[in-house]
Amino acid sequence: MHMGFPAFNLTLEQLADVEHIDLASLADAASADLARWIAMPAGLREGVLEQMANHVAPKNGALDGPCTWLDLQTKRCRHHQHRPQVCRDFPVGGVGCLQWRAAYADANLS
Ligand code: SF4
Repeated sequence: MHMGFPAFNLTLEQLADVEHIDLASLADAASADLARWIAMPAGLREGVLEQMANHVAPKNGALDGPCTWLDLQTKRCRHHQHRPQVCRDFPVGGVGCLQWRAAYADANLS
């Protein structure tokens, strides 16, 4: 609900030019995201690049809106098989998940 867009663990410049990434410099999560990125359909990659290029960070500590891959009706990821590592590492029903759910419930956004 606050990611804005899928948060791949690579910069816009890296994702836009994967041929020139220094693979040895990547952490494990970034390497995993790079492999997913390369395997993604081109249309999905182009959409994320556009979102990253046009992203304007919210001011005054505000959060980004819902991830553009989130289906607000079903509350499910529309491209679950392509989701970044950060999404895979976030345990549904874990402490952080429950804290965010409570925060959104308080704000009547859930
Ligand atoms: S799981 Fe999918 S919808 Fe949720 S933040 Fe990750 S990419 Fe976006």
